[in-house]
Amino acid sequence: MNNPETFKCPCAICHKRPATRYCDYVIDCWHPQIFLRDRMRCVKENEPSYETCDVPMCEECAKNIDREIDFCPYHFELYQKAKEIPEKWKKEQARVKRQINTELLNGSD
Ligand SMILES: [Zn+2]
Ligand SMILES: [Zn+2]
Repeated sequence: MNNPETFKCPCAICHKRPATRYCDYVIDCWHPQIFLRDRMRCVKENEPSYETCDVPMCEECAKNIDREIDFCPYHFELYQKAKEIPEKWKKEQARVKRQINTELLNGSD
């Protein structure tokens, strides 16, 4: 029988293998004002200014995004969706992106 209690930190998804990594999906960021006020402290103490999901996962269950980045299956799905917006909005999105880029290139002053 497979007892999850045998592992100190079992995988949250399959409960069969020990967790070797944590979900790196950012679920919360500091409010910009708090971030600004505490920025020096954050920089000094080298604290990240965001919170990650941190669900423990084994290698089998983790979805590897980048060399050092793994997402849990739930956040992997969200991540895939987050990249894709409805087709009908894409034209407007492209237009605004072009506008922003032009403003950045020309400068406002
Ligand atoms: Zn697992
Ligand atoms: Zn996650």
